[in-house]
Amino acid sequence: MPDFLIWAAAIVVALAAAAVVWRLTVRRARRSRPGGSPAAVSGGRGGLGALLSRFRGGADPEFWREMERTLLGADLGPAMTARILERAREALPDGPDGLRRTVERELAGAMSEGERALRLAGSPAVVALVGVNGSGKTTTAAKLAARLTGEGRKCLLAAADTYRAAAGEQLQTWGRRLGVEVVAGAAGGDPAAVAYDALAAGRSRGMEAVLVDTAGRLQGNRNLMGELAKIVRVLGRDGAPAPEVLLAIDASTGQNGIAQARIFTEQAGVTGIVLTKLDGTAKGGAAVAVEHELGIPVKFIGVGEEPGDLLPFDRAAFAASLLQ
Ligand code: GDP
Repeated sequence: MPDFLIWAAAIVVALAAAAVVWRLTVRRARRSRPGGSPAAVSGGRGGLGALLSRFRGGADPEFWREMERTLLGADLGPAMTARILERAREALPDGPDGLRRTVERELAGAMSEGERALRLAGSPAVVALVGVNGSGKTTTAAKLAARLTGEGRKCLLAAADTYRAAAGEQLQTWGRRLGVEVVAGAAGGDPAAVAYDALAAGRSRGMEAVLVDTAGRLQGNRNLMGELAKIVRVLGRDGAPAPEVLLAIDASTGQNGIAQARIFTEQAGVTGIVLTKLDGTAKGGAAVAVEHELGIPVKFIGVGEEPGDLLPFDRAAFAASLLQ
């Protein structure tokens, strides 16, 4: 065989091998997202990480403008952005590594060191999902059910959104898929009554947890917010410990998420945040802003539509991921 044919064949084989290695590397990188650090929130091209890696010392006004734009673009909000910029300016004499460490420390430090585990107090423990329509409540309730059953805990789903028939059906579908029982009420019925019935069913069936999906509502609608407060009150009656109330916030709603969280906290005593849809946005900074401004811990993040796409939030991993 002529030499050039042997060389050509060798080059083709080498290129094919390189392509396979590349695909495996990318797949592994996708799978190995550490807790609380979805790939999508990392800075990527033009993100915070990229900006800091270009920094060689001696920042000019354009660097600061770009840093401000990047921080705001990641939805860290004006207060956190101003704070990080100030600390970053102070850290300039420490060089590129010092600057990166300072920013990472500020990001992680803005979030609390408090407990982020799902609170499962009482028998059964009650977890209510609240939030505006489309924020991911039903999906999160199902993901939590998948997580708990995966840990060997018996749980029950409650469809306390009696306003939209489709919402009840969506939860029933999840229940069938996960093999989890669902308690639902009649369409148009009293959602607090459904929540109460579900709690009673949970007690009599020896469930460890009851996960209550509530109707989405506009935070501006006082009547509906009052009803939500009633559901939460009912769930904590008869000496039961106060329920874990998780507010689902769609990460792509940005600063509006903070306004939502304030009203829901006033009305329904939110005890934790689930930041959903972090797989589809580079606005992961919202987690830092929400937690910093409200002092409510982000407990989970949603990174997809499958049952396993709910990750416990890890503040250090998350801060580091914003700087990748
Ligand atoms: P609800 O109205 O608050 O109950 O919201 P749903 O749970 O019905 O979610 C609204 C839409 O967002 C659905 O299409 C879900 O599949 C989708 N969704 C929920 N959580 C996530 C997530 O973490 N990532 C992605 N990509 N989609 C999500």
